[in-house]
Amino acid sequence: MNKLQTRLIISFTFVILVILCGVSTIFSILIIRFPQQERLTYLELNTQARSIITILRRLPNFVPSKVTRLTLLEDLSQRHEIRIAWATADHHIIFDSAHLWDTEPGFDLFAKLTPNVDQRWTGQIRDSGRIWLIVAHPTIEPTNARHFLILAKPITRPVLNTLMQLRETIATPLLQAGIIALTIGIMLSIAISRSIAKPLATISQAALALADGDYEVRVSTEGPQEIKDLTIIFNKMAQQIQASHQAQNDLVANVAHDLRTPLTSIQGYAQALLDGTADEPASRDQAAQTIYEESRRMQEMTKSLLDLARFQAGEIKLHLTAVDIIKLADVRIDFYQKQVHDAGLTLALHTTHKPIIVQADKERLIQVLDNLLNNAIANTRAGGKVTVAPTISDSWAKIAITDTGIGIPQNELPRIFERFYRGDKSRRGAGTGLGLSIVKEIITAHNGTIEVESIVGVGSKFTVSLPIDQPSIT
Ligand code: ADP
Repeated sequence: MNKLQTRLIISFTFVILVILCGVSTIFSILIIRFPQQERLTYLELNTQARSIITILRRLPNFVPSKVTRLTLLEDLSQRHEIRIAWATADHHIIFDSAHLWDTEPGFDLFAKLTPNVDQRWTGQIRDSGRIWLIVAHPTIEPTNARHFLILAKPITRPVLNTLMQLRETIATPLLQAGIIALTIGIMLSIAISRSIAKPLATISQAALALADGDYEVRVSTEGPQEIKDLTIIFNKMAQQIQASHQAQNDLVANVAHDLRTPLTSIQGYAQALLDGTADEPASRDQAAQTIYEESRRMQEMTKSLLDLARFQAGEIKLHLTAVDIIKLADVRIDFYQKQVHDAGLTLALHTTHKPIIVQADKERLIQVLDNLLNNAIANTRAGGKVTVAPTISDSWAKIAITDTGIGIPQNELPRIFERFYRGDKSRRGAGTGLGLSIVKEIITAHNGTIEVESIVGVGSKFTVSLPIDQPSIT
């Protein structure tokens, strides 16, 4: 009973039944109110009245004597089985074939009838336990006196008659039409409710499968538009859950893998120190140095991971201040001078601009520059060149970091901003593959963009764009 399909079918059937009942009730009321039989009787009475008036006119002198006329009316009444009466112009009844109205003093038949436009009177009155249909026709006699010829016919139990007539004529076809309509309606309601309930059931089964861990489940779009929309939304949701589940799996696998390597190395050297294998000062120094380097790498990685998680959770708040990116680049270049000199590289600032001020989080911007500079230095061979070029273009402040390094293959370019993505093994440094993901998060949080161009063997260019009129970032 609670099933949508059952409910829909019951509702449809109920609506159809209500409509059918309504239609038959209105029909019945209309027919009872204006019964055809009555209309026919009035017609018959009018015709008879006209022919009786013609008969009366044909009498010599129209009305030779009152007695003759009344006898004739009495005679016609018996012959045609109708009640006939005669009234004066002032509505006084002087003859009634039923001998009732003419004997009742003060009886005013016309008070109960309705005059028609041609001064005929028609109506119904209840008299001696019967309902009489009455027509009163005016007659003008040769003497110019006005009289009324009144014809009346009883109707017995009109409602019952009408209902019987109704049953015989209209009820059966109405019932047949009703049954056909009901059958078609129920069939249609089954079809419509199926088209709604079936896809809904499919979606709920798919949702159950998704909850049970089947992330590949998808639903085919069918049914009415609203159900199609729901299906599309469900599929999109399933796709996102699958992607985020995959990303989570990848993350765990990457973290586990990237932590195991330095841990194994730390463990190995610590073991050597403990069991005295690295007793020589030189090997002791190397062991300590490796333990220090590897633990620093692990610390960097956990810090980066934490940063990324906090960016994604929207927990990182930027502390915006006016930052001159030329000055900032200059300071960072100075910081790296010794490192690039040792590597046999040159690192220079290229700019023709005066200060370029942006509203930014200075520490985060340093993090971006450091990451990009570190990558450029690490991927450029001795003799190479790294340049930092801040410029202004429209309402954007841009910083381009260009190197003449090994470059990045075109097929890798779309992936380098992914977490843990590191170039192929031959080009891999000691990085974690998290640097560029963090850079992108920071730039995006500043409403900026980062683009990369690269040619293998020629070098790479990373361009960071930051809006100059930074709206307040929360
Ligand atoms: P990491 O440097 O720690 O490996 P990143 O996310 O910073 O991680 O960089 C991802 C990958 O992109 C690097 O492993 C490297 O292969 C490539 N890459 C980044 N910058 C450069 C560059 N300037 N030149 C060549 N390859 C680069």
